[in-house]
Amino acid sequence: MTQQHEFPAGDPSPDAWDHIDASDSPGTLVQSLKHFYTAVEHSPMATAITDPSGRLLYVNRRFIAITGYSRDELIGRTSSVIKSGKTSPETYRELWRTLQGGEIWRGEMLNRRKCGEEYWEYEVITPIKDEHGKVISFITVKEDISERKRQEEELRLLATAFETGQATLIANAEMRIERVNQAFTAITGYTAEEVLGNTPRMFKSGRHDASFYAGLWQSLKTRGHWQGEIWNRNKRGEIYPVWQSITAVKGADGEVRHYVSVFHNIAERKQMEQTLTREASRDHLTGAANRRTFDRALITAVRQAEKEGGEFALMLFDIDHFKAVNDTHGHDVGDAVLTALTACVQRRLRKTDLLARWGGEEFTLLLAGTPMEGALQLAERLRSDVADADLPGASVTISIGLSAYHPGDVARDLLIRADRALYRAKQGGRNRVEVMTAERAVVSVADMAEGEDAR
Ligand code: GH3
Ligand code: MG
Ligand code: MG
Repeated sequence: MTQQHEFPAGDPSPDAWDHIDASDSPGTLVQSLKHFYTAVEHSPMATAITDPSGRLLYVNRRFIAITGYSRDELIGRTSSVIKSGKTSPETYRELWRTLQGGEIWRGEMLNRRKCGEEYWEYEVITPIKDEHGKVISFITVKEDISERKRQEEELRLLATAFETGQATLIANAEMRIERVNQAFTAITGYTAEEVLGNTPRMFKSGRHDASFYAGLWQSLKTRGHWQGEIWNRNKRGEIYPVWQSITAVKGADGEVRHYVSVFHNIAERKQMEQTLTREASRDHLTGAANRRTFDRALITAVRQAEKEGGEFALMLFDIDHFKAVNDTHGHDVGDAVLTALTACVQRRLRKTDLLARWGGEEFTLLLAGTPMEGALQLAERLRSDVADADLPGASVTISIGLSAYHPGDVARDLLIRADRALYRAKQGGRNRVEVMTAERAVVSVADMAEGEDAR
């Protein structure tokens, strides 16, 4: 039976082999060396042995596979054969300093394969010393880390995109915040440290009810996504609107792992929308509602009265002899009078009343929940208010026509009656209030028919 020698554990310095007597059991030594050689030769780590001047004495299969050079092309050359020229000189200086000091060097290098392709390697170079401490060779073990480098690069890229992108919050499956970016801090006022581990409930403004959040969760559960407008509260306590998009990120098993929420402040947009809506619904000169707004309000009032049987009145008034004001004092004074008169009338009104500039120097006034008697009183007051008002440049009077809702009326009926009443007020000498009831309108229509028959 041949004697078995074990491979020594630990540092494979030449001394460790001293106890093996080659003459005593040559077969076993050769066998052991063969094992050793096979292990290195087939190691998944690229391995090389170089002499003290850096010339390659041995390279294993992995080394050959990674570099693309044959063994013959490598042995006897220095490893500069695979240099990319892009590893910093400082790295090489540090490498030689370490090795000359007899220390193991570990580091990353950018090398080049025979085909020209560059690749990253993680290298461990061990100086091997003789019994006098003199370096007799180096053993280099290295690994191609190009893929890891590529992933790192990609992560760096994504991290940059994350930091420079829209406000973003990443929460775990329990909705605990795990990451936020700079834009998040800019909008919310909270730094990452202040929010990590909390849930987004800390941004609640109180403007949304439970059903709003239930709808949001329902959408996240069924569609994995939600987006919409949400009012949040920032660190200073201010409430502001954001457009928010939340996406559930699932693992390979289909379970939700994270929620990614991206949002931007829409306060400015909301304000612009409000201004636009205001401008579209107002008369530019006087600031009163415009005709379109009034038409809508009147139609709504009629519908509501039909359904709920409420009452309301409609007033139509026109400035008397306004052409003369313009002719005498100029158009600018006329404009100023229109504006001042609007303000004068507005002062008498309630929140539920709607004053509109119907056109030129003619105005309409919708009095919600007001019966004819109340409207008549108000009309008289308005008439005298205007007559007594100290308007800029000129004093004017107004003539007023009144109508009130009568079951069966459509919007037009009310306008026609008020217009007839106004006409009568003008005919009656101006600076007057006239009323046209539904019954009288019916009568006057009948009168007209009779008149036509008589002809
Ligand atoms: P009446 O008592 O019959 O209502 O007489 P009036 O002069 O007010 O009636 P008319 O309809 O003949 O003239 C209305 C005038 O209102 C004509 C126009 O010069 C003036 N007007 C209409 N819109 C404006 C406006 O925006 N600014 C100014 N300054 N004047 C306007
Ligand atoms: Mg007029
Ligand atoms: Mg007029």
